[in-house]
Amino acid sequence: MAETLQAIKGMNDILPPESARWEWFEETVRKLMRRYGYQNIRTPIVEPTALFVRGLGEVTDIVEKEMYSFADSLNGDQLTLRPEGTAGVVRAINEHSFLYEGGKRLYYIGPMFRHERPQKGRYRQFHQVGAEVLGFSGPDVDAELILMTVALWQDLGLKVGEDVKLELNSLGQPDERRAHREALIKHLEAHADLLDEEARRRLHSNPLRILDTKNPAMQAVVEAAPKLMDFLGEASLAHFNAVRAVLGAAGVAYRVNTRLVRGMDYYNLTVFEWVTERLGSQGTVCGGGRYDGLIEQLGGKPAPAVGWGLGMERMLLLLQEVGIQAPVRTPDAFAVVMAGTPLAPVMVAIESLRRCGVTVQLNPAGKEGPASPKSQFKKADASGARFALVFGPDEVAQGQVSVKPLRDNGEQTQQSLQDIGAWAAMLQVGSPS
Ligand code: ATP
Ligand code: MG
Repeated sequence: MAETLQAIKGMNDILPPESARWEWFEETVRKLMRRYGYQNIRTPIVEPTALFVRGLGEVTDIVEKEMYSFADSLNGDQLTLRPEGTAGVVRAINEHSFLYEGGKRLYYIGPMFRHERPQKGRYRQFHQVGAEVLGFSGPDVDAELILMTVALWQDLGLKVGEDVKLELNSLGQPDERRAHREALIKHLEAHADLLDEEARRRLHSNPLRILDTKNPAMQAVVEAAPKLMDFLGEASLAHFNAVRAVLGAAGVAYRVNTRLVRGMDYYNLTVFEWVTERLGSQGTVCGGGRYDGLIEQLGGKPAPAVGWGLGMERMLLLLQEVGIQAPVRTPDAFAVVMAGTPLAPVMVAIESLRRCGVTVQLNPAGKEGPASPKSQFKKADASGARFALVFGPDEVAQGQVSVKPLRDNGEQTQQSLQDIGAWAAMLQVGSPS
C-alpha cells in the first residue's frame, strides 16, 4: 500500500459534523454584517512579503518570528502567507483607489497563517472574521464596530460580561506616543536589571510592547511604568470619551486597561480586546482598533480606518466550553425506495420537492439495488428526518408516494407525484430556516 500523507502540523481538517458548527458560525456572521451594512471583501491568501513587513512593523511577534515566507521557486518573488487580514485589505483599497467615492465598511472571513507552536486555541492555519471601516475618522464607527461584536456574542448565545469581557484603551496619536515612549524608556532603563532578554531587545525598538509581557518577574516594573493615558491630549481624550459614552449608553460593560497595546504597530486611538477566562492562556478571542496611519504608510492617499479581527477556532472552542451548540440541521424527508421501483420517476419527484425548498435525503442503492426496507427505515430514523417518502413499484406506477411521519404519530398519507407543489409545504412545517 502507498504511504499515507498527513496534513502540515498545526493545520487542521474540518470534517462533518464539526464543519456544521463552522457553517452556522459563518452564517451568523454574514447575517450580522448585512444588518450593519458591511460588504464582503476577498483578497489573496498570498501577498508580497514587503506588505506585512511595512504594514505590521519589523519588531512585532508576527514579522519577527511567525510569518510563512518563502521565495517563489519559479521567479524568486518573496511571498508570505497572510498572517492577518488588515494589511491585504489596505493594499487592495489602495490599489483600486477604492475610497475615491467615500468611506467603506467591509468584512472578510478566511484562513490566516502563523508559524507558532501549535496548542489548544493556537494553530498555524487558523481562521479570522475581520471587519474594517475605512475613510471615517469619528468615534461613531469605533463604537459601531464594538457594538457589532456585542451583537455577535448575543446572536451566538454568549453572555457578555461573563463569557467574554471587553477591555478598552486609547493609544493616542503618534506625537503623544513619542512623548510617552521617551518617559517609558527612561523608566525601563532605570530598572534594566529586572528586564528579561526580550524586553531588553525591544527597549529601543518597541518599548510599548514590553508592557504586554506575561513574564511574572517583570510585572512590578511594568505596573509602575508611566501610562500612555496620562500623555493624551484633548482631542485624543475626547475621542476616547465619546466611544465610552456610546458604550455606556448602550449598557455595554467594559474595563479600561491602560496596558492594552495589541500586537501590531499600526494602531492609534481606540484599541480593544474581547477576552475570556474559559480558554486558559489563549484568552483573547477578538481584538481591534483604529489604524489611521496605515493606509498612507502602505502608499495610499491618507485616510483614517478602524477594524477588528476575531479568531474563529477560539470562538468555537469557547462556544463549546460554555455548551452552546449549533442548531441541528436534519432533512425534512428521507426517501425510502423499495426494490423493483423504477428509479427515474422517483428521482424526478425528489428533485421537484427540492426545487420547492424541501430538503430530501436519498439513500444511495448499491449494485444489488436498494437495501431492505428495514435497513432504509433505520437510516431514515437516524437522519432525523420528520417524514419518510416511501416509493414502491405499484404506487409509482399509479403516480403516488406514501408519506410517513417519523417523529410524531400522524397518519400516513398518499400524495400525488404529479402535483408536488400542493403538498411540499407540509413537509417543511417546523424546519429551521
Ligand atoms: P495572541 O496574543 O493570542 O497571540 P494576537 O494578538 O497574536 O493573539 P491578533 O493578531 O490580534 O492575535 O489576531 C486576532 C485574533 O486571532 C486573536 O484574538 C485570536 O483569537 C486569533 N488568533 C491569533 N493567532 C492565532 C493562532 N495562531 N491560532 C488561532 N487563533 C489565533
Ligand atoms: Mg500572537
